[in-house]
Amino acid sequence: MRFLYGPVASWRLGRSLGVDILSTTEKTCSFDCVYCQLGRTGNKTAERKVYVRTEEIEREISEIADTIADTTDVITFAGMGEPTLGANLGEVAAAIRRQCPKTPVAILTNAALVTDMQVQEELKKMDIVVAKLDASDQSIFEKVNRPVSEEIKLEAIIEGLIEFRRGYKGRLCLQMMFVDDNKDSGAEMARIAQKIQPDEVQLNTPLRPCAVKPLSQEQMEGIQEHFKGFEVSSVYEKMKPEVRVIDKVEVIKRRGAED
Ligand code: SF4
Repeated sequence: MRFLYGPVASWRLGRSLGVDILSTTEKTCSFDCVYCQLGRTGNKTAERKVYVRTEEIEREISEIADTIADTTDVITFAGMGEPTLGANLGEVAAAIRRQCPKTPVAILTNAALVTDMQVQEELKKMDIVVAKLDASDQSIFEKVNRPVSEEIKLEAIIEGLIEFRRGYKGRLCLQMMFVDDNKDSGAEMARIAQKIQPDEVQLNTPLRPCAVKPLSQEQMEGIQEHFKGFEVSSVYEKMKPEVRVIDKVEVIKRRGAED
């Protein structure tokens, strides 16, 4: 398989079959997060374009569509970078629905393009949107997420998420990754989450190998104290599901060897 990988065991989503609509050899992203498991961002861009034709991805899905119901809880847009940079995201989502009408579709996004109304419309086609939010102000945002353009502003992303929430009927999860640089932002992040009104807050710290150290379980429990009243899942508490991987090479490329 070239554009699909997994299923991988996701503590957030269960058995997740990945769809990589970028499938570039180096990471393509509008962020360069300090904790990214894919290393530094090689292809820094905030511009959308078609990386892989929709027909090619649909053909690959159709080849395994019969097995998906038995092996997969959710089909997830993720992979070698930020999936909303694929200009055919909405088209590919529609193709997945055609091939696998019973399986929910999710996306892991850094939310940088949630300011774009077209992207909001495409995100509305997903059953689950997991949006990254790691910072409470622009300076922490620049330290942790290292946006690739000065035009990417945290405040605009937060406003975009508030607006998106109003029109989105699916499940909106905010994923917050805590590292040393934002470990004291819990209270302010909870206030921001209050404005966005997600269905779930996922509190994360990078337990997989990357350039920065994870916070301890005690530190994460301290942060969780600020999120009373939210549905919260925390990486230290969640168990991973059992998976039967279809293509291990494609998984290692996008998730690292420990999967
Ligand atoms: S947004 Fe995701 S893919 Fe992009 S640098 Fe951050 S963690 Fe990596």
